Amino acid sequence: MLTEVQEQAPRQMAPGTIAATKVEYYQIPLAEVLSDARHGDHTHFELLVFRIRCSDGLEGVGYTYTGGRGGRAIYSLLKDDIQPLLEGRDSSEIAAIWEDIQSHLHYVGRGGLLSFAVSAVDIALWDLRCKRLNLPLWKVAGGAGNTTKCYAGGIDLNFSESKLLDNISGYLSRGFNAVKIKVGKEDYREDVARVEAVRQLIGDDVTFMVDANYSMTIEQAVRFGRAVDHCAITWFEEPTIPDDYTGYGRIADAINIPLAMGENLHTVHEFTYAIAQAKLGFLQPDASNIGGVTGWLKVAELAYAYNLPVCSHGMHELHVSLMASQPHAGYLEVHSFPIDEYTTRPIVLENGRAQASNEPGTGVTFDETLLRPHLVMHT
Ligand SMILES: [Mg+2]
Repeated sequence: MLTEVQEQAPRQMAPGTIAATKVEYYQIPLAEVLSDARHGDHTHFELLVFRIRCSDGLEGVGYTYTGGRGGRAIYSLLKDDIQPLLEGRDSSEIAAIWEDIQSHLHYVGRGGLLSFAVSAVDIALWDLRCKRLNLPLWKVAGGAGNTTKCYAGGIDLNFSESKLLDNISGYLSRGFNAVKIKVGKEDYREDVARVEAVRQLIGDDVTFMVDANYSMTIEQAVRFGRAVDHCAITWFEEPTIPDDYTGYGRIADAINIPLAMGENLHTVHEFTYAIAQAKLGFLQPDASNIGGVTGWLKVAELAYAYNLPVCSHGMHELHVSLMASQPHAGYLEVHSFPIDEYTTRPIVLENGRAQASNEPGTGVTFDETLLRPHLVMHT
């Protein structure tokens, strides 16, 4: 009897079936021009928001961002190639969707722009997963805790030394007890002087990192690393091009400061090679370009297996929950692109630690009123 009823009932979509998706592309101006040693001046960042609505009306929101270029190509991947793959899929089958998108576009997209596009979709799927479980991301992703160590990451290479120091003082007064500055000046002695000035300003107890944005040769990185040996630097980030894993290994062998990288490794496999060859002290995956929460967690597992702290790059409003979820978390980067200021919950610090949201979902809810003026196009 029951079988008959089931057979006769009109076929209904399961509640988690993807009914519709939407892509939005924003250009958001920065309050001032920010520069590093490799990417030139940043005047704005690009934000791509990907929305998934299920047949029962539940909506998941994902996103990715760029330093101001390439966003239209990511928009096109999402609109032309990925949206048509998603309708009718079960939104809870996150790994299957992740693998399908990767293989669908692998020939043209391995790593690079595709990783940004996959990330936006994946984060939306995780938002849905968490909302269906009625749990915050920090619990669903691991549940180690709901706070994390963090640092303020300046994009400050073009700042004069006095402005650099003012900026660092601003971080300390906001409650940070860890800071990072850019290095990679023409004359490395200027970098050394800036590092010494910052260490003098912050005293012995504040954690301090430096980031060269892969601007140095191996010889330059070794010379600089040795020259700031007395400044208690926690990590030296991206000294040279991220592809030269064995070059990183040579730098690591020659200086006393641990190396860090990850923002430019856009496949999990690249992290595998980096771990094997680059002698890193910290891994810095970015969920906006490593395949979302799924990719970030794969790297976090690798880090755990190799006894390395997992850190993050960018989009701190999301990473705060991922970092808090992991038992071996290092430091969350509170990035200079203030995506969080366009959400309903900008970053929350307590005693120097960043606090994850306890709301069901990723904890990232965009404030439509703040975003709308910056919308360039949408599907
Ligand atoms: Mg960096």
